[in-house]
Amino acid sequence: MLDVLSSLVYSTLTRFGFGPEPNYQSVKEYFPGSKPDFICIAGPCSIESPRQIETIARAIKTKKISFMRGGVFRAGTYPPRDSNFGLQQDLLEHWHRISKRHGLKIIVEVLDIREIDLLNHYADAFQVGARHMQDYALLKELAYCRKTVALKRHPGCNLNEFLGAAEYLVKGKCQPILIERGSSTFMDHVRWDLSVSLIAAIKRITGIPVIVDASHGSGRRDLIEPLTLAGIAAGADGFLVETHPKPNVSLSDPQQAYPLKCFGALFDRANAIWKLKRKFK
Ligand code: PEP
Ligand code: MN
Repeated sequence: MLDVLSSLVYSTLTRFGFGPEPNYQSVKEYFPGSKPDFICIAGPCSIESPRQIETIARAIKTKKISFMRGGVFRAGTYPPRDSNFGLQQDLLEHWHRISKRHGLKIIVEVLDIREIDLLNHYADAFQVGARHMQDYALLKELAYCRKTVALKRHPGCNLNEFLGAAEYLVKGKCQPILIERGSSTFMDHVRWDLSVSLIAAIKRITGIPVIVDASHGSGRRDLIEPLTLAGIAAGADGFLVETHPKPNVSLSDPQQAYPLKCFGALFDRANAIWKLKRKFK
């Protein structure tokens, strides 16, 4: 009786536009063509100076990374106090030039639909940050860019909402990547709580590559390695990590910056688990 009543309430609400049935058919049908290769996105939280870019690029290019990352916007959970925020184009230009010299591709976050054309000139791939996951105008525009677009899960959105957002990308011509970066949580041992179960669940639904971001997914440098490896064991196709030559003096998110000198070992361990996991499939 209760069941009948609750399904009646549910269907009534749905009819009036509340709680639509999850609908992401293209995501379910998505097939990347071949098995995704190991994906690694590494770099600082923020691009700080040409010298910092040079040091990081030299170190990470010793491994087969997919993209160098780095924030060129002074944006974050809280706006900086001074008025000097927004796109730092001079740093983006340095980054673009130095990365090309090192043969590295770069992934650049896009915060504003009005900046896509400008960023397109520099970026080999785009990142849609967690706070923009449901910015559908941005997603619709990026969907047709024919580049890789990495979509981060919003810390307050569930699996269906994440895949619903991914549906906007899949309908276009870009190559999507999904990034699990943790949820808002009542737990107080982490800043955000990485969901390993979400990675495993998504891999059962879609062929879109998924990667694990344990830097944001914990906010704790000492948890980056175990959570990265756990994410890959759960089925992630690779990882994102924020890395810095001197983590403690990183201009942003110092607590979650992974020491650059340890990056190579992290890459090797993550790659070894990924290869092992691949054998099971
Ligand atoms: C980032 O990757 O630089 C970032 C700001 O992450 P998020 O959007 O997951 O907070
Ligand atoms: Mn960061």
